[in-house]
Amino acid sequence: MNLMQLQGIGMTSQRTRDRLIERLRDKGIVNEQVLEVMRTTPRHLFIDEALASRAYEDTALPIGHGQTISQPYIVARMTEVLLEGAPIKKVLEVGTGCGYQTAVLAQLVDQVFSVERIPPLQEQARQRLAQLDLRNVIFRTTDGHWGWNAFAPYDAILVTAAPEEVPKELLLQLSEAGRLVIPVGQAGQQRLFVIRRLADDFHHEALDWVSFVPLVKGR
Ligand code: SAH
Repeated sequence: MNLMQLQGIGMTSQRTRDRLIERLRDKGIVNEQVLEVMRTTPRHLFIDEALASRAYEDTALPIGHGQTISQPYIVARMTEVLLEGAPIKKVLEVGTGCGYQTAVLAQLVDQVFSVERIPPLQEQARQRLAQLDLRNVIFRTTDGHWGWNAFAPYDAILVTAAPEEVPKELLLQLSEAGRLVIPVGQAGQQRLFVIRRLADDFHHEALDWVSFVPLVKGR
């Protein structure tokens, strides 16, 4: 990747990116660390070149295989909610997709574990993170319903596809004061939840109404 591609021009320039950050602020995102990481992470490198000119619009975009890159506001909101509270070292991400959310997380926590069920999507994400020199991410192709027990417990788990019910395994892989940020529900009626664990209690808080692709069962 050359510097020109990384910096972007026209609709992918820093000015265009700065405008997106202002929009996120207007919509209520207040975590400066999250805003700064999103200001400097080149979202246009995570989508098809044909769509690059739309990379800094606040919308979801197709990434192939019937999947989408999440809307920037949603990435910011989920990340902000995830970071609230005790500092986070280890995060499990379910649904790597194009890897944009992964890249944002990698710059805010010590270690990211990311699982995805579609191998070519994950392979592309792996390459992009390497290009950006983000080395604190470990990937695995698997069904995220089961989490990733080998590295549990996690201080936080972030799920970017919606199950109809919260998978129990994910709750069990949270650390004692861990939190799970997850969209739940059928298409058309999904709600974002943050579930905070305090020892054996799980406190659910309902946040925004959202629209995610479904968390598919099986590989
Ligand atoms: N954060 C990603 C979101 C991609 S969409 C991005 O911004 O690009 C959600 C992703 O979850 C898709 O890539 C989809 O393949 C994946 N997914 C769906 N069901 C899954 C499952 N059971 N296990 C792991 N990944 C899953």
